[in-house]
Amino acid sequence: MTEHVVIVGGGTGGSVLANDLADRLEPELDAGDVRITLINDDADHVYKPVWLYVPFGQREPDNGRRPLEDLVDDRVDIRIDRVTEIDTDAKRLESMEGNDVIEYDYLVLATGSTLVPEEIPGLVDGGHDYYSESGAVDLRDELLSLTEGRLVLSVIGTPHMCPAAPLEFVFMADDWLRERGLREEIDITYTYPIQRVHGNPHIAEWARPIMEERDIQVETFFNAEAVDPEAETITSMEGTELDYDLLVTIPPHAGVDLIAAAGLGDDGWVDVDKHTLEAEAAENVYALGDTADTGVPNAGSVAHYQAGVVGQRLASEIRDRPATATYDGKTLCFIETGMDAASFVEFDYETPPSPAPPSEKLHWSKLAYNETYWLTARGLL
Ligand SMILES: Cc1cc2nc3c(=O)[nH]c(=O)nc-3n(C[C@H](O)[C@H](O)[C@H](O)COP(=O)(O)OP(=O)(O)OC[C@H]3O[C@@H](n4cnc5c(N)ncnc54)[C@H](O)[C@@H]3O)c2cc1C
Repeated sequence: MTEHVVIVGGGTGGSVLANDLADRLEPELDAGDVRITLINDDADHVYKPVWLYVPFGQREPDNGRRPLEDLVDDRVDIRIDRVTEIDTDAKRLESMEGNDVIEYDYLVLATGSTLVPEEIPGLVDGGHDYYSESGAVDLRDELLSLTEGRLVLSVIGTPHMCPAAPLEFVFMADDWLRERGLREEIDITYTYPIQRVHGNPHIAEWARPIMEERDIQVETFFNAEAVDPEAETITSMEGTELDYDLLVTIPPHAGVDLIAAAGLGDDGWVDVDKHTLEAEAAENVYALGDTADTGVPNAGSVAHYQAGVVGQRLASEIRDRPATATYDGKTLCFIETGMDAASFVEFDYETPPSPAPPSEKLHWSKLAYNETYWLTARGLL
């Protein structure tokens, strides 16, 4: 009997896993004992970290896109389609394309995060972002036309993709505006929902003095409630109102609806065992990357490491061997601290982050990492 592994989501986690499995299960694939299908709702693979650089004119959105066909092993069946329903009792999926159902023996959900700006009244019309491809392109024009006033960066949704990216944006904006001789004319304000500037206390403790040094104003305990695009104000549930000339936000995030509908977790995030990445509510279902609710940051590096764990576990299960690989919470992240300097953190469930002193070398390491991504995603590095 042929075992069918279905991966939903061809972003970082899903694509890395598809290539990892194609490599690990080569004999079984050649013998026709295993079939791997990767379902993604876009023919392109999108590498989102590129979007941070688009507003500053340093990258084009196309730099973050490659056809899935070019990135994923030929032995994987790629299906461009959107999964609309998961039935974990019957072990089958339904999709937009249609009439046929997709049956699986093993299912991996790697559906990532969704932006839901409509949750905040006025945000769709009043706010800009770099957390979507179109948002990053629009923001490039807005930033270029800002010559005076107040730039507000408001972190609205947590959890959100790449917890470092809001810090990176204000550090880069500060530097970029200084280079253009405009920093004196433009105030930068950063807001965060809790009592510190980042969810992780160690990173918050490191970032706060840099913000003070750079004259980046901070509003903590700022849970955005509404945006008034006419008056150009953003208000918080705590009663603070901020004027803005350019509002950049990290919009609220959610998982995908079909996960909640399938009873796999609230808000579209899959409840998983944080070590094995197995779904708690269904047999033979794994989740990885942003969609897996493990408590670690929603980061591409996390999705990458988790894909290796799920790949090893699935290969063992298919070979009727005990699945022993586990995820230890490993997270790796470069943090831009300006246009030509960056820091670096590496941590896991047990070890807290300790940001490295910013340097030009780490900035170039981040850019190099982004370029070599296309090789690492293929499993070539
Ligand atoms: C501006 C920005 C900067 C970032 N910088 C970094 C960084 O420097 N380092 C880092 O580690 N991470 C970074 N990240 C985070 C990183 O991009 C994400 O955490 C990572 O992409 C998560 O991978 P994933 O596989 O879980 O989801 P994704 O890569 O988002 O892939 C999910 C895929 O599933 C598809 N999909 C969803 N629902 C369905 C469905 N129903 N049917 C079919 N397909 C579906 C989506 O279209 C998408 O292709 C950044 C993110 C942003 C926005």
